[in-house]
Parts: sequence; structure tokens; C-alpha cells
Amino acid sequence: MEKKAHFLKALHWQIFLATVLSIGLAITIRALDLGAETQSAFRAPFLFLGDLFVRSLKLIVLPLVVVSIISGIQQMGSTSKLSKVGWKTLLYYMSTTFIAVTIGIVIVNLIKPGVGLNLAIPGGEVIKPTPILQVFQDIIPPNIFKALAAGKMLPTIFVSFLFGIGLLSVGEKGKPLVDIIESLNTVIFKIVGWVMATAPIGVFALFIATLLDPKLADLSVFFENLFLYMVAVVAGLGIHGFIALPLILILFAKRSPVAYLSSLAPALLTAFSTASSSATYPITRERTIDAGVSRESADFVLPLGATINMDGTALYEAVAAVYIANAIGVDLSFASQLIIVLTATLAAIGAAGVPSAGLVTMIIVLEAVGLPPGGYVLVIAVDRILDMCRTTVNVWGDAVGAAVVDAHLEKMNETSS
Ligand code: ASP
Repeated sequence: MEKKAHFLKALHWQIFLATVLSIGLAITIRALDLGAETQSAFRAPFLFLGDLFVRSLKLIVLPLVVVSIISGIQQMGSTSKLSKVGWKTLLYYMSTTFIAVTIGIVIVNLIKPGVGLNLAIPGGEVIKPTPILQVFQDIIPPNIFKALAAGKMLPTIFVSFLFGIGLLSVGEKGKPLVDIIESLNTVIFKIVGWVMATAPIGVFALFIATLLDPKLADLSVFFENLFLYMVAVVAGLGIHGFIALPLILILFAKRSPVAYLSSLAPALLTAFSTASSSATYPITRERTIDAGVSRESADFVLPLGATINMDGTALYEAVAAVYIANAIGVDLSFASQLIIVLTATLAAIGAAGVPSAGLVTMIIVLEAVGLPPGGYVLVIAVDRILDMCRTTVNVWGDAVGAAVVDAHLEKMNETSS
């Protein structure tokens, strides 16, 4: 009895149940063959409810990204560390994330999940994407308040970075602000928790609305495509985790990936089961140090990495965005795909190391290429399992980063002595 209560308390099981129920209801309604008009009337309240959920997600994404970046940067500890290895660490984070996204984009273009579905998405219409040059230009906003008010994410991420580094640079003088940011962080996480608690209802409504879409002629085709999408994410993660990161480890840290991977195994399994890089952090730290990485490097790279270095999340967001575009019949141009690469790299930085964070910041990627944020519904039902996989790659990327930075520090010490 006790076990059952526990099972239903877990949000991902609730979402799973909501998905199963919505599929059951949708199949029943479709089987009743009520006629297009009645089916649309039945679908309307679910569209409305689903839209409320999407709106709440959009509501939290901006504050979530701001505090998560500013507080993440404070983990660096001091600006002397920032100038010694900080920039290189950031470069490592950005380049490995970029590699991950690129792998994701290539794979999803090969597998092509969603092509031919031609769905209409609840929760928003397709808008014109911004030209790529302007996306770059917009990263530096002439007026941050305007950018914030318009909900523009890339300038927000940029300014949060700038502010976070500024705050770190002023040291003791910035302490009161750091405390405020930390407490804001706690409050925002609380609210995110509340919004996520409504996810089962949101998913139920959104999923029904999608499955009752009059344009969707055959449900089995929908599920086939969903499966293909999952294959694309897992294949991309596999290539990044088993090929790209090990190569980086061999080339830049001169370590054996097999030995390092087996030392890290407990952390990776924890990441897989908790779907949270932050919750896994203590184990990642312990295992990394046990594998011979210096405490200094581990303590510098890992806490920051747990919040901003998310190779798996970035890859997943890119694949999901292309899948959603395919499913609603939007043909993404090369420029749009480039925008996806750029925004997914940045959006993953803004995602906190907690379950489903990547799902929330995915909105940034969708909006950047003009896709409706309600596109969500196409991926949320299978999010937990993919979250577990991408978090494992996130943590593995952090651990490889710690080894690379450590090797670099050792080299620096050798040459200076
Ligand atoms: N759960 C992931 C992590 O903690 C973030 C995400 O949702 O992608 O690393």
C-alpha cells in the first residue's frame, strides 16, 4: 500500500499516467466517430486548459534563467580563478555543448522524425523567424528593460552572464546582492515546482487536444514518429557520450575513457535515476576526485558545470525543435537550423540542473525560430526518460571537463615551476 502511494507521488509517474489516460480518451473519442464539429467542440476546453499550462511555463522561464546563471557564476568563487582558468572552462563548456548540438542537428536531419505529420499545435501560431544576423545582433540589447519586457531570451542570458561576472568581480561589496540572488533562486525554484506540479493536468489537456486534431488522420503514424524522435535523441546522446567526449578526454586530458567512465559510473547512474545534475553533484565530485582529478579543479569546474554545462540538454533541445518543426510542417531553412544551434547552446546554459529544466528552456529555442511554444506537447509525454538520458550526458560532460581543466592546470604549474 505504502509503495503505491509513493509511486503516485512522483511527478513523472503522474505525467505518465496523464499521458496514458489522454491517449485512452482520445482513442475512444475518435472511435465514436462523432463528426468533425462535435470533435472540435470537445477539443476546445482542452486547448484552453493546455494553453494555461504553456503560459505558466513561459511565465517562469525568464526569472529561472536569470537567477540560475547569476548564481551559477558565483560558484566560481573569485575573479582570480576566473582569470586563471575560468575563461578556458567557459570555452570548454561552450565548445562541447556546440559539438553536442551539431551532432543532434545532423542526426535529426538524417532520421527526420515528424515529417509528414502536418499537425496543428495548440498554444500558438507559427511566426516569422528572425534573420540570423539580427539574432546575433540582438544578443547585445541597447536597453535591457525592453529586452526583458519583450521576453527576449538571448539578450537576457547575455546580460545575466555579464551581471554574474560583475558581481563576482566586486567581491565582498557584492555580498548582499549575492544573498538576494540566492534567496530569489530558492523562491523561483519553489514556484517552478508548483508549475511543474500542474504538468499532469497540462499534459493531459495538451495531449488530448493534439490527438483529437482533425488534421491527424492516423494515430499510429503519430506514435511511430514519436518513437523516431526518441531514437534521434538517444542516438545523438550516444554519439556525444561514447565518441565525442571520450575523444576530448584522450586528446586534452590524456586519460583512458574506459577507466574514467568506470570510476564515474556511480555518478552517471545517479544522474540517470534522478534526472538532476545538481542532485548528482556530490557524487560526481567524489568520483572525479577519486579518479585522480585535483580537488581544486573538481571544485571549480563541477559546481558551475552542474548548472551551466549541459551538452545533453542542448542536444535534446535542438532535436526536439527540429522534430516539432517537422511535425507541424515547417521546413526549417539552413539559417533557422543555425539559429537552433546557437540558441540551444545558450538555452542549455540557462537551464538549471533539475528535472525538466531543459523542457522549460526549450521555449527559447522554439521562439527563436518562430515555432509555437505549444509544440511542447509533442515531446512532453516522453520527456522523463529522455531527461534521464540527457542528464547522464550532462554529468559525463562535467566530469570530462574537470579532467581537461585539471590536465591544463597541471601543465601550467609545470611550466611556471
Ligand atoms: N535534468 C537536466 C539536468 O539536471 C536538465 C534538463 O532538464 O535538461 O541536467
